Parts: sequence; C-alpha cells; structure tokens
Amino acid sequence: MLKIHNSLGGQKEVFVPIRPGEVRMYVCGITVYDYIHLGHARMLSVFDLVQRYLRYSGYRVTFVRNITDIDDKIITRAAALKESWSDLAERFIEAMNVDCERLGLQQPDHEPRATQHITQIIEITQALVAKGMAYVAGNGDVLFAVRKFPAYGLLSGKDIEDLRSGARVQVDAGKNDPLDFVLWKPAKPGEPAWDSPWGAGRPGWHIECSAMSMQVLGPHFDIHGGGMDLKFPHHENEIAQSCGACDTKFVNVWMHNGFVRINDEKMSKSLHNFFTVRDVLDTLRDPEVMRLFLLSSHYRGPINYSQAQLDQADETLLGFYRALQDAPAGGTPSAAVLAQFREAMDDDFNTPEALAVAQGAARELNAAKARGEEAAAQAGAASLRAIGAVLGLFQQDPHDYLKRGLKSGSLADADIDVLLKQRRAARQARDFALSDKIRDQLAAAGVLLEDKPGGATQWRRA
Ligand SMILES: [Zn+2]
Repeated sequence: MLKIHNSLGGQKEVFVPIRPGEVRMYVCGITVYDYIHLGHARMLSVFDLVQRYLRYSGYRVTFVRNITDIDDKIITRAAALKESWSDLAERFIEAMNVDCERLGLQQPDHEPRATQHITQIIEITQALVAKGMAYVAGNGDVLFAVRKFPAYGLLSGKDIEDLRSGARVQVDAGKNDPLDFVLWKPAKPGEPAWDSPWGAGRPGWHIECSAMSMQVLGPHFDIHGGGMDLKFPHHENEIAQSCGACDTKFVNVWMHNGFVRINDEKMSKSLHNFFTVRDVLDTLRDPEVMRLFLLSSHYRGPINYSQAQLDQADETLLGFYRALQDAPAGGTPSAAVLAQFREAMDDDFNTPEALAVAQGAARELNAAKARGEEAAAQAGAASLRAIGAVLGLFQQDPHDYLKRGLKSGSLADADIDVLLKQRRAARQARDFALSDKIRDQLAAAGVLLEDKPGGATQWRRA
C-alpha cells in the first residue's frame, strides 16, 4: 500500500489513483537559459525515481515534464550573449538532454514546451476573463484576481492577509490587489510576441503549467511535483488558474522535493558554491555516483553536498559492484528482500531505507560467495540487480565498472576549478578538515596549491 506525503494537508496519505491502475503525473521542468545545476539534478532524479517505482508497482504511468522555453531570464540572457532567444533555448535544451542522459534519467512520456501551447494559454486566460477571475490592468497586463479565488494559500499554508500587507509595492503597476499575478503581458519592442485578444504579447510563467498539464492530462490528475521553492507562488497560482478556469479539482497529490545545500550553506552564485551537473559529473568515477548520492537522502529533506559525501557515495557504489563481481548469473530475487524493498518505497519513497535493504542483500551475497553457496549467491545478486533496476543503479558490468579509476593524476583544468571552488566554500564554512582533504586530493593528482592573501588560490602542476 503506497503512501505519499501530500503537501496539500501536509500528511502521508494512502495513494488512490483517480482511474484504477493508472497514474497521471506532471512535474515542473527546467527554464532553459543555462546549464542545469545540482538542485535541478535532485528534482529530476527524485521524480524519475517516483515514476519508475509507480511503473514497478504495476501502474500505467503518464509522466509529463515541461520545458519553459520562453521567460524573462531567457530573453535577458540571450540579449546579453547577442544570441536569439530561441537559439539560446534550443542550445540549453540540447545541453539538458545530454546531462539528463548522463544522470541515467528515463525520458518523460511527454515533454511539452510553453511556446507550443500558446493557444491553450490564451484560451484559459479568456475563460478566466469571461468569468471575472482575471482583468486587464492599466499597463496592459492580464492579471489573475486572487480575491476571486477563496482557496488561495491552501497549498503553501501562507496567511494571505500577511502576504497582502507585505507586498503593497506593486499596487502602482495597475493591480487591484498586490497578490494578483500575470497571465499574459504585452511584449516590449524587440521581444518575442504572439497575437492575442489583448494585443501582441507573451504568457506569464505560471499559466503555462496549467495549460500544458490540462492539455496532456486533463483538468484533474493524480500527482503534481516540483522543487519546494515552487510551492509558493508558482503552484499556488497554478491551482487558482486551473480550478478557476475549469471548476473541477486540479491535483490530488502535491509532491515537493527538498533543497540541495553545499557544505551546509545555501547554493548560490554569490557564495561561489554553485555547481553545474556537467562540471561535477566530470570529476566522478561514474555518473551513477551522483545518482546514489542523491538517493541516499529522503527526497523531502534537505541534502548536503560536499566532496566528502560524494567520496562516500563512490565508496558505497564500489562496494555494491564488488559484491556483484563474479556473482553467479541466473536465479531469482529473494521474495523476502523484495518485500522489504517495497515496504521502504511504499513509505513515501523512502530511498535511504531502500538502499539499506540493498546493503543487506550485498552483505548476504558476499557471505554466500565466501562460503561457496551458489544458489544463495545467485539469489543475492538477483535481488540486488532487481532493486537496482528500480533505483537506476548497479546495472553496469561490474568488471567494467571496477576497472574505471578516478580521474586523479590526469585532472582536467575544469575539474581542478571545481575542486578549488569546493575548497573555497569549505574554507568559508571553516570546514578545514574538508579543505585539507581537497588539497590532499589535488596533491595526489600532482596539483599544487598556493593560497594568496585575500583568499585567492593559485595552482600549478608539479
Ligand atoms: Zn510549473
């Protein structure tokens, strides 16, 4: 019996699909204006795992993850790079696809793009205007009237009056209420624009997810996921738009994954601890190390990224592959082990517990190998591979995996830069044990550091 924590209500609930045997699931995807970072990797991996486990549990799953390919950030970045906004979006979609493949993610069943759903966006906006739930403001923006939707704030548990009084700054933008948000905005000269009943313009961000989820999954579906930072206002606004336009229930279960912290600090460009997925993957023995690291924490809690944690994930994964090495083929997984695995995963996708079950299977496998018990070793290996197939781990040839060394001794400049960034972050966090460890790792690879006054570090090859 699968239980999922529902952000709407804040409880673990027994999962009951709307249509028996079928799950329809929508996840807010990437705004494509840069390479994806570790926070994205976590969100992508968490919901990849959710859909894998739902399929393993026997559901027919329709998994939709959108791409935001029109947005202020895309327009601003494209202008800065003197590139067309659509070329920039296309370039980062391709980069995202490469990174997703390296992360071992399965393709969503549908990957709609905002710019391909402008018609639906306009239709929903028209419906909301017709019902008096949206209006054209003085500056030409079409805004959602939050006061017309009494359930606003239910998902995030925010006190709407507090928000209202704290946000009065934007009243002069022609808003009737400071909480009203943009559905459609007129384009400025030179900006991408589509024709609409309100003149040439483009959609606001929130409306695209209402339009795309409704188009592919219908107005009422089972699971909506995203990072915790999207709960408010993005998901709150999606509920207001979709329920406002359709008068049906929108989503049964809201799932939100926790943040990634770097050496116990918030990840941000200003703290110089901002890592792209591709930079980190380039420093690892194998991208699977990243997946194991991300699944080692429960999806709802924060996860702390540090070199030490990655090293530990690397060691753990080596242990699994050593157990599988020279294990006899054939055999069937142990029913008892799979039952434990399902029990862990049925408890709100408890991956740390599921990995503990896998560790137990690896220990049994090692013991059976040591005692020369062929049948027990076969069953242990089969159990481990079966669990790994759901988690997206342990599917490589163990001999190939174990031959692969760390990239020490031949660190590329980019790898060294990543380690130096991590070391700087560790020093700022006064984690000198970690900073020394990184220095030693670099020294072992023949890279010598010289710390300069003012915090800068120079490096050279020995
Ligand atoms: Zn969204």
